[in-house]
Amino acid sequence: MTEAPDTDETQRARLILSLRSQGVTDPKVLDALEKTPRDLFVPNLFQDRTWEDSALPIACGQTISQPFIVGLMTQALRIESRSRVLEIGTGSGYQTAVLSRLARYVYTVERYRTLMGEAEKRFRHLDLLNVITRFGDGGEGWPEQAPFDRILVTAAAPDEPKALLAQLKPKGTLVAPIGRGAEQMLKRYTGDGHGGFSIETICEVRFVPLLEGVAKEF
Ligand code: SAH
Repeated sequence: MTEAPDTDETQRARLILSLRSQGVTDPKVLDALEKTPRDLFVPNLFQDRTWEDSALPIACGQTISQPFIVGLMTQALRIESRSRVLEIGTGSGYQTAVLSRLARYVYTVERYRTLMGEAEKRFRHLDLLNVITRFGDGGEGWPEQAPFDRILVTAAAPDEPKALLAQLKPKGTLVAPIGRGAEQMLKRYTGDGHGGFSIETICEVRFVPLLEGVAKEF
């Protein structure tokens, strides 16, 4: 007798357990991950891999982040229910959707018009009314909406993202992969309230690069 394949629900529950065993232990973060239907963000071609703990290709040569990394970064941000969060690199919108369950508002910026349009459709479909989108160069942040309580960068910045740190509240937190090519470290900057920051290195990561300007095609 052959065994029936695992149901979507079983695979989803198994992924959440695996994230917990890897250190994503904040119950609110786990809850937000559990309630976010990743299948809506994964391209048709990769639907059968939706609940694997891996990054997957999306349009425009970009990727939807690995669930463990989404959990780890979300946990590292220490979001409060009143937080206004700026996210750079909307991509599929998966990380945005997770943030939107924890924060008051999520402002998200993407440099590909196609990706932004597709993500916006998903936010409407899921009724995520606290997500505000912008097509533009996220390296410049979102000056009109600054300062933010939290900033999350989901593409690798070559160096310390000074323009973004300047848009953080004095005691705010910014989490970003920093580094060029394959050598990237996930870092957390926490404002000391006097214009300085403490910097912690969380782990090694692998993200697509944060590029300058908006994409001309797509
Ligand atoms: N959080 C996303 C991961 C997206 S990958 C998800 O879960 O799907 C990183 C994204 O950052 C890509 O979509 C890329 O186009 C975008 N990006 C890179 N540089 C950028 C910039 N300067 N401004 C805005 N978005 C940028």
